[in-house]
Amino acid sequence: MKIHVLQCGSISVDPTVPYGRRFDLIEKTKQLTAADEKRITLPVFTYLIEHPKGLLLVDTGWCREISPRGVYDLKAASAVLPSHLTALFHPALPERMAVHEQLAAMGIRAEDLDYVLLTHLDPDHVSGLRHVNKAKHIVLPEYEYYWSCRTVFKTRQPQNLWIRYPMERPFYRGSSLGPNHWVIDLFGDESVQLVNVPGHTEGQAAIVIRDGKRFALLTADAAFSPRNWQEMIAPGFGFAREWQKKSLRWIADMAADPGCAAVLCSHDPDVKPGAIVF
Ligand SMILES: [Zn+2]
Repeated sequence: MKIHVLQCGSISVDPTVPYGRRFDLIEKTKQLTAADEKRITLPVFTYLIEHPKGLLLVDTGWCREISPRGVYDLKAASAVLPSHLTALFHPALPERMAVHEQLAAMGIRAEDLDYVLLTHLDPDHVSGLRHVNKAKHIVLPEYEYYWSCRTVFKTRQPQNLWIRYPMERPFYRGSSLGPNHWVIDLFGDESVQLVNVPGHTEGQAAIVIRDGKRFALLTADAAFSPRNWQEMIAPGFGFAREWQKKSLRWIADMAADPGCAAVLCSHDPDVKPGAIVF
């Protein structure tokens, strides 16, 4: 099993986005108005998995249109995102870092991808979907789709970035795995499992890639870095803090498992792009 860690741009955010302090409306308002000098820059990761059953891409990073010259561009970003999300993320995507640009450099076209798995519908994970929508399958947990279409998540997960693409939307099913005991077992052999880790969004999936007793865990945004579960500080960008903590406790247990080959968070500044083989 081989996992390529691809960095598809960055976010520049208030420090309470990865590590919440107050978890209230005041904090969320501050996140939108943070001064440039207070912000920290974090990577946006996607993952290309070479699996015996095909090529899998997990998440899609920023789209090229959001950052046409490779730097944060308020006007260009605001043409793609609502103004409050531009203000929150300050997205940037350097040259050759868009997901399709990196895949092309590896000789891979979107049509060659067997699966694009979406962990959740926040724009830093799905705006690049426009570049890889010709993949054979695009998979999103139904539970994430359901709440994104109906609730406050509509303001956070703009539908124009993802709703027009044909997605397969399986339901989670009961399992012994995960904080919520809900899993989508992609191939029915436990080699790729989408595990519901609620709190950041309702339906967010972490991904467990397994080969025998060894596994890697992709946390999506349930944790921004190991500090979240080591110090039990939930990310400040989320809507259900107790669920976030429950998800973090599960990640901590998985990280301590002797079979754990790697735990990768979507915005961990200590992770470097490259390949992990296990
Ligand atoms: Zn994210």
